[in-house]
Amino acid sequence: MKAPAAILKIRPWAPANLSKRHRLVGKARGLDKPMETQNLDRKRRVARRATLMSLPVWLAIALLQVLAERYGLTGLGWDESAPLYGGVIMIVLAHYLYFSTPLCLRTGVSFGTVGIISISAHAVLVVAYLFLDRFSYLSVLLLAMAAPAGPAFLGLNFGFRPTLAMGVGLCGVLALAYLGLPPSPWTLSPPEFFLFLTIVLVSWAIGSAVNGINIRKKYMILDLFRQQQAATDIIRDQKTRLDDRAAELEQANTTLKQMSMVDGLTHVANRRRFDEAMGEEWGRRQRAVVSREPARKPIDPEALALIFIDVDHFKAYNDHYGHVAGDECLRRIAQAIIGAVNRATDLVARYGGEEFAVLMPGTPADGAAVVAERMRRAVEGLAIPHAGSSASDCVTISLGVVATGGDNPVNPQALLERADAALYEAKREGRNRWVIAAPVAGVA
Ligand code: GH3
Ligand code: MG
Ligand code: MG
Repeated sequence: MKAPAAILKIRPWAPANLSKRHRLVGKARGLDKPMETQNLDRKRRVARRATLMSLPVWLAIALLQVLAERYGLTGLGWDESAPLYGGVIMIVLAHYLYFSTPLCLRTGVSFGTVGIISISAHAVLVVAYLFLDRFSYLSVLLLAMAAPAGPAFLGLNFGFRPTLAMGVGLCGVLALAYLGLPPSPWTLSPPEFFLFLTIVLVSWAIGSAVNGINIRKKYMILDLFRQQQAATDIIRDQKTRLDDRAAELEQANTTLKQMSMVDGLTHVANRRRFDEAMGEEWGRRQRAVVSREPARKPIDPEALALIFIDVDHFKAYNDHYGHVAGDECLRRIAQAIIGAVNRATDLVARYGGEEFAVLMPGTPADGAAVVAERMRRAVEGLAIPHAGSSASDCVTISLGVVATGGDNPVNPQALLERADAALYEAKREGRNRWVIAAPVAGVA
């Protein structure tokens, strides 16, 4: 009833299931910590790395500035821009240290807010940079480099129209800044600048469309993921229910099996169980005979005893006291017989109407006779009045005893017949007694 783990995806990170190497890797990643701590550690790591990403960007800006200055495309020199680079290094360092130390956990400010402050500080520096440069070729190159990132990031998160609106706003602000700021000797001419701005706007629009459409895919994937999660939950739920049902069924089966083996009236084993036990015990005995194990054990595996029991003058009892009393009498006799056997392997079964059969593995004839006498006394001891009995004034039983060993018969049928014959002999001799079947010489 176990569903494959691949379907259920129930593979929690459990150290006990992993090799030593995997455990070490897991520890290095903090996977041995509680889930909440793991998430926090991951978020801090992401925040630390995010700020480092701005370093190569500013390095590229510096390189571009060197080149632009060399070819006379900008008037922005090191002396003017150095404070901005210093500012960048300060921001990155502060950000990195903030998320490396426990400070980020103590201030109570959310990681997102700190991220926005950090990005804003960068943005201020970028604006200051553009302001210092006054829209030279360097600015254009930098903007051309940075612009595609806008619709790619925003489009994926906000969709087509909002991203396009943000692009239009950005171009508007740039145009206003261009028109409002006093020009420098390196500032682009209006036709050059507006041609560039148009190109930025068009590429922004294309980027917004492409990534804005992708947002649907993103949500579709998220949706699919959620559905998959829901399906997984359902499967897990069903599995639990199925397991419960299986356990119930197993329980019911066990009960049914027990019921099918027990006699409804007397609650001892029924005829069916007796036949089954007879087959089993006979097989066990035969195996013992074949292997001839040295009989060191107190129990002799070759011996198998059978007692047939019949209630004396029970028809008369029924006729005199009625069938209901007869049934009750049978119940009490069954309990008395059960009480007379000691071993767990002994089986008391109701063989027929008022006949019982007792199977006793590992018991020789003399042992079986002792048990038979105990049974006879137990029933007699019940002292159930029986007016119509010739044997006694109370209810009694007659017993036929037989055991394998020596020259006794070699098949179950013969054993049953011998027990029946012994019982008949006991009846004939006056009832309320047991008779041991005589060994049959020459049959082996
Ligand atoms: P005997 O001493 O020779 O055995 O005499 P008996 O009357 O007991 O003879 P027999 O064994 O043939 O008797 C069977 C009687 O047992 C028939 C029926 O009246 C009674 N009997 C059989 N099954 C049941 C039962 O389930 N309930 C009751 N109340 N009586 C039963
Ligand atoms: Mg009978
Ligand atoms: Mg009888």
